[in-house]
Amino acid sequence: MFQTTIAKLLPKLPESFVWRFSKKYIAGKDQESLLSKAKIENEKGANITVDILGEEIQNIEEAAYFFDQYMELIPKLADKNIDVNISIKPSMFGLKLDKERCYQYYEQILSHISQHESGFVRIDMEDSSYTSIEIELYEHFLQKYPKNVGLVIQAYLYRSHKDILQLMEKYPEYHLNFRLCKGIYVETPEHAYQDKQEVRESYLRILKSMLKGGCYVGIATHDSWLVDMILQWIKENNIPTKSYEFQCLCGVKENLKLSIIKKNIKNRVYIPYGKNWFAYSTRRLKENPKMVNDIIKSFFSCK
Ligand SMILES: Cc1cc2nc3c(=O)[nH]c(=O)nc-3n(C[C@H](O)[C@H](O)[C@H](O)COP(=O)(O)OP(=O)(O)OC[C@H]3O[C@@H](n4cnc5c(N)ncnc54)[C@H](O)[C@@H]3O)c2cc1C
Repeated sequence: MFQTTIAKLLPKLPESFVWRFSKKYIAGKDQESLLSKAKIENEKGANITVDILGEEIQNIEEAAYFFDQYMELIPKLADKNIDVNISIKPSMFGLKLDKERCYQYYEQILSHISQHESGFVRIDMEDSSYTSIEIELYEHFLQKYPKNVGLVIQAYLYRSHKDILQLMEKYPEYHLNFRLCKGIYVETPEHAYQDKQEVRESYLRILKSMLKGGCYVGIATHDSWLVDMILQWIKENNIPTKSYEFQCLCGVKENLKLSIIKKNIKNRVYIPYGKNWFAYSTRRLKENPKMVNDIIKSFFSCK
């Protein structure tokens, strides 16, 4: 109740006030802020992936703006010797509004990005109404850009384990590349585990299948219990370090990130930026008021 009230109240507050807690999680409003945040993360020993804030466009014409932003950013990352690794939400390119246009945007970005050594596009995963069409999108580009494209899988969905087993069986010739996360959208018991421990168990089950099946995995979690279990299993099973990396969100659990880097394990930080930061922050909170707890904690530790 308290969380829901705060989440509803935030959009009515001045942007400067909301920025006070959002700035910890978002690089800034423009490319300059992103490039300087990325440099800082690189200096700490972390790799990065960039997310331009925006999703669920209402009109396909809006997609052109985001496409141009990504195309402009790619050479700038390369010029500054920063990873050319970007994350894109398919709803930002209007996957449900105009599939053909959305595919064209991904095609042009992938063709451009694949010319860079670290060039990589991660297809972010959205709510469960998108799961099948985002897997289909991944399969389409996997065949042309096997080294440059990867998909996100959400451990809370019942279907996810079967989905990855099917993909592995269907494409034995490719080194599939997944980011595994718990899942951030509010899903009903019809589609997703609701219990925290069940989600963790599903996460471990899926991760083990991916790593044993030879996939590359971006292990995206800040759950220390899960991280400890994973590190132990990886050690016991001699999983080579080149098969995985850990991933975290910008501004979340900095100490966990640094402790992973200290173990000489690759870590990638997901850095969002963009002019839509206010809409993004408030919409996310309305969708998932449980995040209020995390934000309140960080608000009181703001410098
Ligand atoms: C790199 C990356 C990419 C992601 N991409 C996607 C995606 O494409 N699709 C998708 O559905 N989800 C995505 N997520 C979000 C993910 O699904 C989870 O919702 C999120 O990571 C929280 O789960 P957790 O595993 O960290 O565990 P939790 O148990 O939720 O969190 C563990 C602890 O981490 C801290 N924490 C976690 N999240 C936050 C936060 N937002 N702010 C402050 N503190 C926090 C808290 O202290 C919390 O107690 C991504 C997450 C990461 C790290």
